[in-house]
Amino acid sequence: MWILIFALGLLILSILVWGISRFQRNRLLFPSGRVIHIDTERLRKPEGTLFSANYSLVGRPDYLVNQGGWIIPIEVKSGAAPVTPYPSHLYQLAAYGLLVKEHFGRTPPYGILKYRDRAVEIPFTGTLLEEVTAVLEEIQADASAAAVDRSHAEPKRCRSCGFRAACDQRLV
Ligand code: SF4
Repeated sequence: MWILIFALGLLILSILVWGISRFQRNRLLFPSGRVIHIDTERLRKPEGTLFSANYSLVGRPDYLVNQGGWIIPIEVKSGAAPVTPYPSHLYQLAAYGLLVKEHFGRTPPYGILKYRDRAVEIPFTGTLLEEVTAVLEEIQADASAAAVDRSHAEPKRCRSCGFRAACDQRLV
């Protein structure tokens, strides 16, 4: 009799755990699949780091989810989702796509930008991967250049930059 009650208790507990994890996953708008890597400040582990010799690139996606054999990178952003994701967000995610390709042998079909209020699926199209590759090549070229012009793509950031006093390219 006691064994039966114990087994019933275990069954109820596992249904509860399953329900909670499903609720959490839905709340976070995660894709279904097995989470194979989580990167948080508390759970920072070296094995979560992906490295690409081809692109001289190192990165740590916030999550990697195994979805039917595809490894899907997920980047979490604390802010609300913009109308369309910023290029910097797209390129960061696409760079993770390149890293996943090199590490796991297959380019994932898409990655996910998880904002505070919604998740956006970003297809890793040939165009996006070509663009991010070009950006990486530019960065590599700049890394060995004697002087590099500052980017003024985000004037707001420039106005509140901590290097304004010392920077000869600051926006007025
Ligand atoms: S002050 Fe200089 S370093 Fe800072 S954002 Fe502006 S251009 Fe860049």
